[in-house]
Amino acid sequence: MKRNSMSIRKKIMIWFSLSLLLIVGITLALTFSISQSVFTTDIKTQLTAQVDSNAQEIEFLNSLAGQETELGDQYLSFGDGFLEIDDDFCDYRNGVYTCLIDKENSLLYGECPVRLNQSQIFTFTQVSPIKYKGDRYYIYERPLQGKNLDGLWLRGVASQREGTHLLSSIIKLVMYLLPALAVLSVLIGYLITRRSFAPLQKIMATAQSISGGNDLSRRIDLPPGKDELHKLASSYNDMFDRLEGAFQREKQFTSDVSHELRTPVSVILSQCEYSLELDERPEEYREALEVIQSQGLKMKDMITQLLFFSRLEQGREPLQLETTDLSRLAADICREQQTLCHRPITIRQNISAGISALVDRRLFSRVLENLISNGIKYGRDGGYVEISLRQEPHQILLTVSDDGIGISPEDLPHIWSRFYQADSARSPEQSGVGLGLAMVKEIAELHGGSVRAESRMGQGSVFTVALPIVVNP
Ligand code: ADP
Repeated sequence: MKRNSMSIRKKIMIWFSLSLLLIVGITLALTFSISQSVFTTDIKTQLTAQVDSNAQEIEFLNSLAGQETELGDQYLSFGDGFLEIDDDFCDYRNGVYTCLIDKENSLLYGECPVRLNQSQIFTFTQVSPIKYKGDRYYIYERPLQGKNLDGLWLRGVASQREGTHLLSSIIKLVMYLLPALAVLSVLIGYLITRRSFAPLQKIMATAQSISGGNDLSRRIDLPPGKDELHKLASSYNDMFDRLEGAFQREKQFTSDVSHELRTPVSVILSQCEYSLELDERPEEYREALEVIQSQGLKMKDMITQLLFFSRLEQGREPLQLETTDLSRLAADICREQQTLCHRPITIRQNISAGISALVDRRLFSRVLENLISNGIKYGRDGGYVEISLRQEPHQILLTVSDDGIGISPEDLPHIWSRFYQADSARSPEQSGVGLGLAMVKEIAELHGGSVRAESRMGQGSVFTVALPIVVNP
């Protein structure tokens, strides 16, 4: 529980710092141990190389007479003659000392920082380490070979402290530099995560303010960008747009339904009140009951349509698609509507034969019925409603046109919205509830199609439903 309460930014920083610490630790340990072993190998090689090369620089001379002495060469009296030590003899270099000693362990030439016990002398024919006065040294001894050189030895001594001087400076530098670089990396990492996570803070703040304050109009305000967080923010904004739209529609819907139901309920109540107060004659009661019935039917009609909408939207009314002969279906409905029509209006057919499509037969019938009944409702006595059906290369077009009262340009864009009624005074006797065209649109879109309307006031209207051609899989 406690771990989850930590922010992602903190977690990243902690893991990042710990990993860096581990890497620095391992690097230091490796540097230290590798450099130690490299040094040891190196010092041993240097020691033997220097002692072996110095052994070549010593020669015995019987006398110095007639000898051409070279500047820098050293001459030591030894036995019956002299020892010539060439100036190339190197008695000290990079912490490695070389000295010349006789068989009594007396120092003849050079320098030796270590004093060996009697038991130790001439035992270092292999490079070996010893401790002397707290310091570590490597020693290598070899006898000189050559004329009259018997009993002479070269002893090489390498001081670890002096030899590692340069190395320890490098290690020291690494020891300070690496942690400093690690701290710098952590700092840079912190700045980068802070910067990268800044949009996330904005997203969180906006989401929290929306969920806490019910202000659905708020949006995540981020400058344009293409990274994951910007995409997330834009998805969130799209989601908020949709949520806001859904809430608005929900609100609008509730208020529209209440508004639409209030009128018939008020009419019913006032009719009841009026009839109860007065001592009416039977025919007047009948009239009141007829009004109540018609309002009741209107409410029933609205509730049925609303129920139908909500089932469609919730997916509880799944599309039952079947290959349907639309030409025949349209012709049947035209005949049916003509029989039901109580106005002097002719329903004309302009239907191409043999047009079939994959549709939900029941829903498609509703589209036709709604459009034709509207044509009749808003038509002109003696006028017509014409149904035409034709197939184009990529779509099927159903058109219902009339020569009725028409729709004003201001109303035309809104007629597909639920409960929108252009002007109820235009057809007071038969005014509907404003759901018919919204249902036509919904059904067309469910079939992957679209709707459009053209109209001229006083001249008539044309409603078109375009359906894509879908073949049965
Ligand atoms: P209603 O139940 O009011 O008919 P609709 O959704 O079917 O609801 O239609 C919405 C509005 O569009 C109607 O109130 C009407 O004003 C207008 N309308 C629809 N069809 C026609 C038409 N054929 N001629 C003129 N106006 C129409």
